[in-house]
Amino acid sequence: MSGYVDRLMESVRAKDPAQPEFHQAVEEVAESVQIVYDKHPIYKKSAVLERIIEPERVILFRVPWVNDQGDVQVNRGFRIEMNSAIGPYKGGLRFHPSVNLGILKFLAFEQVFKNALTTLPMGGGKGGSDFDPKGKSDAEVMRFCQAFMAELFRHIGQFRDVPAGDIGVGGREIGFLFGMYKKLQNEFTGVLTGKGLNWGGSLIRPEATGYGAVYFAAEMLGTRGEMLEGKNCLVSGSGNVAQYTVEKILDMGGKVLTCSDSNGYIYDEEGIDREKLAFIMDLKNNRRGRVSEYAEKYPGAVYTPVDASLDHNPLWNHSADCAFPSATQNEVNAVDAQNLVNNGVYVISEGANMPTVPEGVEIFLDNDVLYGLGKAANAGGVAVSGLEMSQNSLRLSWSREEVDKRLQNIMKSIHSQCLDAAEAYGKPGNYVHGANIAGFLKVADSMLDQGVV
Ligand code: NAP
Repeated sequence: MSGYVDRLMESVRAKDPAQPEFHQAVEEVAESVQIVYDKHPIYKKSAVLERIIEPERVILFRVPWVNDQGDVQVNRGFRIEMNSAIGPYKGGLRFHPSVNLGILKFLAFEQVFKNALTTLPMGGGKGGSDFDPKGKSDAEVMRFCQAFMAELFRHIGQFRDVPAGDIGVGGREIGFLFGMYKKLQNEFTGVLTGKGLNWGGSLIRPEATGYGAVYFAAEMLGTRGEMLEGKNCLVSGSGNVAQYTVEKILDMGGKVLTCSDSNGYIYDEEGIDREKLAFIMDLKNNRRGRVSEYAEKYPGAVYTPVDASLDHNPLWNHSADCAFPSATQNEVNAVDAQNLVNNGVYVISEGANMPTVPEGVEIFLDNDVLYGLGKAANAGGVAVSGLEMSQNSLRLSWSREEVDKRLQNIMKSIHSQCLDAAEAYGKPGNYVHGANIAGFLKVADSMLDQGVV
């Protein structure tokens, strides 16, 4: 590591010692930006990265609500408005008990670069709550969302900050949040994305992150003259991103062997076909059940519960060609990364944000794996959110084919921006440096144009 990165990280850690995920995200970008600083000292003199790592604004608030038993519950609400150099703050809301300031800062930081790569005018933000939607009734989720929006509404707006979904925030939650915003502001604007189709949503938005991650994998395979057809794929998660990753892999002729939730994973040697995928979607989106039920319904599949005593996740220890981590951060550790490589996996396209630990990334790069990091590979979701904002502003709706075509073009563009930047800065084929540098330059140049603000 260079002296610059060491010094920067020392100060980041000293300021916010309890935010390891944020440190991890900053360190990866700093190592790439060091290469830019060496070539163009103006960015260093203007302390551009030092400014980007400091959120423009952090909003922290109390969310009191009443459960079905009539007891008052208190959660914590957050919104990190990270960077608005190229557009209004944009990024999802996460509802999960693990949510804290450090996790949301890492996500908001990643979002700044990801949004820049989409070619659309969106700044970076992220928010959420430590509320756990699991096991809550629809009425409880609604009351929580209303209480959350009762504070958040004063900080967001179509030209200011446009939240979307993330873990634990899907169509149901966006509906409750939007309803409350509309009531409080007495206006109907595109203040959230991921809306229902009847009230301003975009076709392909639910599919976009998963589809985009698969399009990105196809682009990476294309650099070696290969296609996804016939490839064996490992997918983790069984939520929004995982479901549409599976769907698009099937569209492209691949075979999906696994999916998971926080309790365990299933391995289906025959492959998850469309009927089985429909079962997963109903299980997760409507019945809100556990993935173990898949193995009860399809006895050919093997369910393995999480075993916390293991030093690795057995999901990543199967023979395959491609892997799509689509659950959460740091779900692929160094042992998992080595297992993936040993099992023949040579394409990784990350649907989740920062799912691989830094040592794991090193292993992929050392083994010539086509490694598509989250901020590039999963940018399809926010890209179609940007297209939803465009449609709201135009007051019209594009067809499914139109949005999908735009999504494919955006993923192609992100892929080529990564490769071009990597080449230009002496790291050919390295998507990590490519994505970080291309995203950084767009934001950094905009910040230079706008002065020290
Ligand atoms: P989701 O619909 O809530 O699904 C999340 C999935 O991951 C579930 O299967 C969940 O299992 C599992 N999971 C969550 N936390 C976990 C943990 N700590 N350990 C093990 N499994 C865990 O969320 P999503 O929208 O698919 O998001 C998945 C990932 O994609 C996240 O990293 C998110 O930031 C990223 N992402 C999402 C979007 C988007 O448009 N939604 C865009 C870009 C990136 P349980 O059901 O057991 O919790």
